[in-house]
Amino acid sequence: MLRGGIPIGKAFGISLRLHYSWFFIFALVTWLLAAVYFPQYYTWSLSARIAAGLITSVLFFGSVLAHELMHSIVSQRQGIPVQSITLFIFGGVSQITSEPKQPKDEFRMAIVGPLTSLLIGGIFFGIYFGWRNVDAFAVQFITAIAYWLGYINLVLGVFNLIPGFPLDGGRVLRSLIWWRSGNLKRATRIASNAGRAVGFILIFVGIWFIFTGNWFNGIWLALIGWFLESAAVGSYQQLLLQDMLKGHIASEVMSRDCVVIPPDTTIDQLVHGNILTSGRRCFPVVSGSQIIGMMTLHNIKAVPREQWSTETVKEAMTPFDKLKWVRPDEELSSILRILTEDNINQVPVVQDSEIVGMVSRENLLNFVNIRSKLGV
Ligand SMILES: [Zn+2]
Repeated sequence: MLRGGIPIGKAFGISLRLHYSWFFIFALVTWLLAAVYFPQYYTWSLSARIAAGLITSVLFFGSVLAHELMHSIVSQRQGIPVQSITLFIFGGVSQITSEPKQPKDEFRMAIVGPLTSLLIGGIFFGIYFGWRNVDAFAVQFITAIAYWLGYINLVLGVFNLIPGFPLDGGRVLRSLIWWRSGNLKRATRIASNAGRAVGFILIFVGIWFIFTGNWFNGIWLALIGWFLESAAVGSYQQLLLQDMLKGHIASEVMSRDCVVIPPDTTIDQLVHGNILTSGRRCFPVVSGSQIIGMMTLHNIKAVPREQWSTETVKEAMTPFDKLKWVRPDEELSSILRILTEDNINQVPVVQDSEIVGMVSRENLLNFVNIRSKLGV
């Protein structure tokens, strides 16, 4: 869901990104503050309200970022690298490359986010209560912003502590059950069922709000509930999948009947001689016995039709040094991660620069299907 987005910089080695949906929520929050919230309490000029709206919004998403950054920093300290943090319509999300190895790692990683929000909320409330009796406009401007930020960060901290996976509180719950029972799968099932329950409750309350006239908050709550419910289901399925793939390697599932093509084949020859007749979509280009690149439908589409009879696959292919590939003993779970992260359908399996097979999404799916049908 969060593929893409605009990079805005780096912190602690983690790239920070803004998803396209974030711009919508940023504009909405700014507008609600400037046009609805601040006018309720203050008689400021339009430009003062817009400035306050913008500053508050930027600091708010800065607080969300700080919350995510703390998750990521603790995660990296436990030896689990974090690729990126993306801000999107429902907040922030850290792309953490693997699951924590021990319950206490997960507990620390999870709890630090809400604690950060509560701390930031406390600091802003401190500013508000320290200066709220001063009448000067500049001070009033600051305390008004600080009050809202204090309030919203406390809400954020408390909301994230709700014990439904994948909310932080759900992760805390999972780590505690995991620690008590030693069973990660069972802990995840219980915590994600709690997450689904929380999701359904939010949807229900949201619909009730809509029917009682509070439609804006109602729609918002229902959407968050729906997002939470599907994330809870998704993360449990993800764990089951990882569990099924665990301990299995590329050579067990790869297809070995690779059709390889010589580098001087023209695109025309490839299309009419191989693709249309075999239905395959991806061909390793091999010179002698060495793999030098890969041709996919994507590469073919990049070549204008009138050049198909003259251009060779060597010119059009993705060269080997730009190619994702795996060794025969690569774990299937890490292959799944490569396919998902790079959004590709297959990787060649290479040993001593010779291609020995190919693992596609289909191979992984068949593997999982057969095993779940046999119950092994
Ligand atoms: Zn969090």
